[in-house]
Amino acid sequence: MDGLMMDFQLTLPTLLRRAETYFGEQEVVTRLPDKSFHRYTYSDMARRAKQLAVALGELGLERGDRVATLSWNHYQHLEAYFGIPCGGFVLHTLNLRLHPDDIGYIASHAGDRALIVDASLAPLVEQFRGRTQIEHVFVVEDSYEELLASSNSDDWREPELDENEAAAMCYTSGTTGMPKGVVYSHRSTILHTLGVAAANPLGVGISERDVILPVVPMFHANAWGYPYIAAMIGAKQVFPGPYLDPESLLDDFVQEGVTWTAGVPTIWLGILQLLDAHPGKWDLSHMKGMLVGGSAAPRAMIAGFQERHDLVVCHGWGMTETSPVASMAALPGELANADDDTKFDYIAMQGFPLALVELRARDESGHEIPHDGETMGELEVRGPWVASAYYESPDEAGRWTDDGWFKTGDIVSFDPHGHIQIKDRSKDVIKSGGEWISSVELENALMAHPAVAEAAVIAIPDEKWQERPLAAVVLKDGAAATAEELREFLAPQFAKWWLPDRFEFVGEIPKTAVGKFRKTALREQFAQQPAVTTT
Ligand code: AMP
Repeated sequence: MDGLMMDFQLTLPTLLRRAETYFGEQEVVTRLPDKSFHRYTYSDMARRAKQLAVALGELGLERGDRVATLSWNHYQHLEAYFGIPCGGFVLHTLNLRLHPDDIGYIASHAGDRALIVDASLAPLVEQFRGRTQIEHVFVVEDSYEELLASSNSDDWREPELDENEAAAMCYTSGTTGMPKGVVYSHRSTILHTLGVAAANPLGVGISERDVILPVVPMFHANAWGYPYIAAMIGAKQVFPGPYLDPESLLDDFVQEGVTWTAGVPTIWLGILQLLDAHPGKWDLSHMKGMLVGGSAAPRAMIAGFQERHDLVVCHGWGMTETSPVASMAALPGELANADDDTKFDYIAMQGFPLALVELRARDESGHEIPHDGETMGELEVRGPWVASAYYESPDEAGRWTDDGWFKTGDIVSFDPHGHIQIKDRSKDVIKSGGEWISSVELENALMAHPAVAEAAVIAIPDEKWQERPLAAVVLKDGAAATAEELREFLAPQFAKWWLPDRFEFVGEIPKTAVGKFRKTALREQFAQQPAVTTT
């Protein structure tokens, strides 16, 4: 017997209509390149998004054609997030931090026909456009405005989209091999939006009363869904434009009354240092906290925000292939009343899968690992917002299991409650004498040392043990520590054979285009020298 419910398609025009109808007066605020603020409402946004949809159609673009963006987080990018898919086209966010050759490869592989670009980034386009099929370029603050002015929002007709049509695409950072395209459908986007909004992490869920500032870029992994989430729940959104330095962000938090924000740990480490250095300078009493993910949130940072600044850090895990949010910290049952130290231990893990997402992990012989907090295996994921293939990359089919799970490449253990703990990327894990050492755990422990600003641990070849850990450490300004002191600091927390043999003190840790430690660069720098010298 079939259910007798409507076959209602889950498509983005539904969200656009909702934001316009019920939250039309709610504000969208952007920090502009000249540092002043632009303000308008969801009603203005919806009108301009429709104008964009109409104008793209009048250019001759057809259903399913890719329209790329190369932009910081701002209101015009929000218009593209809605206008492009609501016109039946596919929003392709290009990562402005990549090398122009890579951007060119990605834009060409995706078959982009049009591009919306910030004026400040327009010179970059000249370096790759020749290799692509891009026919139209619109510059924000300039020809983009002419494009909108050429059309009327009243001419927008909902294109009767099927929920399985593509809404957006994003290429993975491609730390191994060529970048690979993930194609989100309207359905997966709506369900991800609902799934993240439904999570009430650590009791600090979000609603129409919140003011959300996504630091996480709209050019990578959909700003973790926040542009859509905020529009769906009717929250005010604030965009930082190109100003992602700790001082500007803290100013934005205060001035706009931001209650919830999101980004990678490097951003928050910088903010925490500044807050600690200038107690009382920024009044964040209205703020609840932040979602932190993209790489492991150090426990010391989670504790620092809570204990010294009364801010909740909710730790999440995800990938471009999972839209991206797939799990979030959770403190169920008796853990809700545990002491702070125990809570921080749990928040430092990567939590439980969001509703509708399922996780499992298997060891090298293919057996599912037990929930014992120790055994490690490769994490696999499935769910309605998890990719089922990469765009035109048949060689990558091996990333999916025969029974339809996506192999994440992350090495994890599960604690007895089911919390995931990410130990490493499979390519970063250190294998010493046949046993795995988690670089992430060593890094987090080192970053709890008062003199350490950042630490990255890598494997370097070793004749006897195959690989041994090396720690690259950035000290805080004016602080001092020796390799011996750091090793002694780690010693009580780890087995002796886990302790790094070598410490290198560096001015900074090289980062990837999305702010993660670029361990390949560190390996190139240090792997040649023998593993056993102590600096
Ligand atoms: P990307 O597709 O560029 O967003 O990268 C996804 C990868 O980032 C994951 O496979 C993980 O290796 C890593 N990652 C994301 N969130 C976390 C987290 N909370 N802790 C540790 N690693 C993370």
